[in-house]
Amino acid sequence: MNLILLGPPGAGKGTQGHRLSERYHIPEISTGDILRVAARQETPLGQEAKRYMDSGALVPDEVMIGIVRDRLCQDDTKAGFILDGFPRTVAQAEALRRLSEEQARTIQHVISLEVPEEELLQRLAGRRQVAGRHDDTEEAVRHRLEVYDRETAPLIHYYRQRGLLRSIPGIGTVDEIFQRIIAVL
Ligand code: ADP
Repeated sequence: MNLILLGPPGAGKGTQGHRLSERYHIPEISTGDILRVAARQETPLGQEAKRYMDSGALVPDEVMIGIVRDRLCQDDTKAGFILDGFPRTVAQAEALRRLSEEQARTIQHVISLEVPEEELLQRLAGRRQVAGRHDDTEEAVRHRLEVYDRETAPLIHYYRQRGLLRSIPGIGTVDEIFQRIIAVL
C-alpha cells in the first residue's frame, strides 16, 4: 500500500502517519524529519535546507526530489510506504508520478487532512511551547501557511482529478481521525 498524507502544517500528518506505519508495517517517510536530522548533523544538505526551513520556505524541488528518489529505492519500501510532507508542489507530484512509473508502483490513496485555519494556528502556537522547532515562530508559521495555500493546496485538485483524493476531516481525537482514515483505505 502506497499512501500520501496531504494537509497544511499542523494538520496531523506526522501523528496519523506514525499510526498508519504501525498498523500496516510500512515505513513513514517524513521529508521534514529527514531534513531536520540532516540539519542537526550539519551535513551540507542540512545546512542548505536549514536556511529555507527556518523561515518557513520550501526547500528547492530538485533537492527534495533527489531525497525522495533515494529513499524510495530502499528495500523497506517494497511492501509500501507513507509519504508525509511530499509532494508539496505540482513539480514534486509530477516527479513522483514519473518515479512511480519507473519503479512500476502506484499511489493508491492520497489522504487529505482537512483542518480550518483557526484550529491550525492554535495547534501550531501550542506546539511552539513544547516542540522547540525553529520554524514554529509566529512569522515562520504565517509564511508556511501562505506557502501551503499557494504551492501545496493545488495538489488537492491535482489528485482529485486523478481519482486518488480521500478527504478526511482532521478535527476530533487522534483515534477518531485514525478510524476515518482506515475506513477509506
Ligand atoms: P509542517 O508540515 O508542519 O510544515 P514538515 O516537517 O513537513 O512540517 O516540514 C518542515 C519544513 O521542511 C518545511 O517548511 C520546508 O521548509 C521543508 N520541507 C519538508 N518537506 C518538503 C518538501 N516536500 N518540499 C520542500 N520543502 C520541504
